[in-house]
Amino acid sequence: MTGAERPTTDGQPTPLISRTPSVAQSLRTHASRGVPFSVEFNPPRDAAGEARLWRTVREFERMHPAFVSMTYGAGGSTKDRTARITGELATETTLLPVAHLTAVGHSVAELRELIGSYADSGIRNVLVLRGDPPGDPLGEWRKHPEGVEFAEELVRIVRDLGDFHVGVASFPQGHHRSPDLDHDTRHLVAKLRAGAEYSITQMFFDVEHYLRLRDRVLAADPIEGAKPIIPELMPITSLRTVQRAEELSGRSLPKRLMERLRRAAGDGPEENLAAVRAEGIDIATEMTRRLIDEGAPCLHFITLNFAKATSEVLGNLGYGVTAAPISA
Ligand SMILES: Cc1cc2nc3c(=O)[nH]c(=O)nc-3n(C[C@H](O)[C@H](O)[C@H](O)COP(=O)(O)OP(=O)(O)OC[C@H]3O[C@@H](n4cnc5c(N)ncnc54)[C@H](O)[C@@H]3O)c2cc1C
Repeated sequence: MTGAERPTTDGQPTPLISRTPSVAQSLRTHASRGVPFSVEFNPPRDAAGEARLWRTVREFERMHPAFVSMTYGAGGSTKDRTARITGELATETTLLPVAHLTAVGHSVAELRELIGSYADSGIRNVLVLRGDPPGDPLGEWRKHPEGVEFAEELVRIVRDLGDFHVGVASFPQGHHRSPDLDHDTRHLVAKLRAGAEYSITQMFFDVEHYLRLRDRVLAADPIEGAKPIIPELMPITSLRTVQRAEELSGRSLPKRLMERLRRAAGDGPEENLAAVRAEGIDIATEMTRRLIDEGAPCLHFITLNFAKATSEVLGNLGYGVTAAPISA
């Protein structure tokens, strides 16, 4: 019996994969109790990082996220760890895991093999991405000679391979390689038409950008545009996290937020870490409140494998360890 199978009452193993809900189903189930939340983890680099990740996983498990996602390192650098740990999340926790998968550096044959290994581990939900050139995300994109050019093709491959539910990336301010927002919207809609059931946005710090993305997709295609667009957030906990957020999003923080954080940091020789952290949590809380008011289908948090900042934001919103999330 593989890790993806568990015995049933009649003694016959039922593949875990066939019993696993999709992200869209999970969002619907959780929505009956209010706006759900979800979290993103990264494959840890070493044993200490893995121990920390599992502590964080257990903390979030008590809070009932709609799903948890595990990123895929640039160029396949975390291929085995992403598959193994996401598989363990599927078999050893009550959480619904989503494995990220990127096309960069892989032939179609390798991608098919990887998807097979996800299925063997009981993973049914995959976030399909093209990925960026390893080393320099803004560098020239080169397709693997036997690979795929765009995420849309990988969505079709994953869907054709079996019982998978697929999500894709969306970009509130447009993807950095898109010449304009119309082009960006067209290709996002193409991924949804290819079979993606939802998208998760790139992290942003201006809720207006998320709302305009939602308007654009809905105007371009009322059916595909009705699929969930899940906003991704990262609470700022220090000026160093600002740098990380800007690297990850490829965008600068809005001036007015930067001013708030700098004011909190003070003008002494050392950054006032406690004040910056408090301001960062306030900013994330204000953003999430607005997103809830605007009908966001879920709140997806980048955690960097720590639970504290996200839990604080959720606590401010009234989410508790056992309590249901607040109503929209
Ligand atoms: C929520 C989220 C999670 C992420 N997780 C990871 C991760 O785990 N690992 C990782 O390495 N990266 C990750 N990324 C980063 C992502 O891989 C990069 O942003 C990448 O540059 C874009 O991926 P994509 O899937 O959107 O690409 P695509 O959808 O292929 O789009 C790439 C560019 O090509 C354009 N385009 C698409 N189709 C066509 C077409 N037919 N003709 C012309 N142009 C087209 C698009 O408009 C866009 O400008 C994540 C991003 C997000 C938002």
